[in-house]
Amino acid sequence: MIIPPEALREDRSLAIHGGREPRPLPYEDTGVETSAADAVAEVVRTGRTSVWRGGPRARELEARFAALIGREGAFFHNSGSAALITGLHALGADEGSTVALACSGFVSAVNAVYHTHARPVFLPTDPITMVCERDPSSWVAEPIDICLVTQLLGNVVDIDGIMAATRATWLLEDASQALMSTLNGRYVGARGHVSTFAASSRKLMCTGQGGMNVYDDPELGERMRRVGHHGKAATHFGEVPGFNFRGGEMEATLGLAALERLAERAALRNRSAQAFKDVLASAGIPFAVPPAHLDCTVTWFDTAVLLPDTWLGSRDWLVKVLLAEGVPGWTYPSLIEMPWVQPWMRSRGWWGEREDALLARERALWGRMFVLGSQMSPEDARRCGEILAELITR
Ligand SMILES: *Cc1c(COP(=O)(O)O)cnc(C)c1O
Repeated sequence: MIIPPEALREDRSLAIHGGREPRPLPYEDTGVETSAADAVAEVVRTGRTSVWRGGPRARELEARFAALIGREGAFFHNSGSAALITGLHALGADEGSTVALACSGFVSAVNAVYHTHARPVFLPTDPITMVCERDPSSWVAEPIDICLVTQLLGNVVDIDGIMAATRATWLLEDASQALMSTLNGRYVGARGHVSTFAASSRKLMCTGQGGMNVYDDPELGERMRRVGHHGKAATHFGEVPGFNFRGGEMEATLGLAALERLAERAALRNRSAQAFKDVLASAGIPFAVPPAHLDCTVTWFDTAVLLPDTWLGSRDWLVKVLLAEGVPGWTYPSLIEMPWVQPWMRSRGWWGEREDALLARERALWGRMFVLGSQMSPEDARRCGEILAELITR
């Protein structure tokens, strides 16, 4: 049984109370393929670490990545956040458009919507899976242009359900955490008109800094490249207001090396996630699971621990307690509760009773959740589970 926070607060033996030495944190696999150091040095010696519209290594990474996901094309960016922005632009997000945006996501998604001037219409989180609800139709009253959903934690969303409920024209998948998860026998990211994969630290394919968009329609690819290269296409004048978002050759070299070890790394991460969950399950601590109705497999990025309501307001303290005990817990907020979001939406006349209701619901859910990453050894993950269980269950 999970004890209430008051019971743990009295425990003077906790490292956070000075009751014992803080325990060391587990080794974290950032995903940077250190064996590629010499190959990266080769790139440096060429003196051309970045090439207009992508160098040979970036092009090779794009081709291999598109083939892996089963898509026609890919565009390598200098971050996953940049990739979300070009993806939204390519799908026509602009002043006057609406983006149905899953509250379950990483902050880059709502940042990207803001920067396109489109209006977000937030979609609720399912409390069992911690990804977007399969039927969010009661939260959507207006016509939706683009649906932006995130496979948070590596967990899989019901894309058909959400697209039917929102009746959106376009789909942008943020598959950043879900590389090698599958839905209906295909890799996640196979569905979106554009699908984004971040390649930053801890991501399964890590390039240090980087992001990848996959697509089938070459026109979408061209639009993304234009936005990502200062708005320029054939001419030397910018045709649209753009950014400098292209990925570099050193990063692409790390990406190519990471692709070689993808399957091995994915299996290891899943073993670690399972070792953690085995301990949670036997201690009676709930955690987010895949949607039972979907034909899917998950490559876990994070495991979400779901605390009971009694822990609302004490979760952040627990994360600090755990850190001192050698357990690197981490939290995500719901995207609707980002402090700047409500004032911004109010100033545009986009915040109403629906948003108030959703915000209250989302806070009550995300405020009692924290995650443990799968980027550690199964032994460390098991130890983290055991320490957690020892602290919060009796
Ligand atoms: C990491 C991540 C991003 C952002 O990627 P960056 O490369 O850090 O900009 C976007 N979405 C999700 C779900 C992520 O996990």
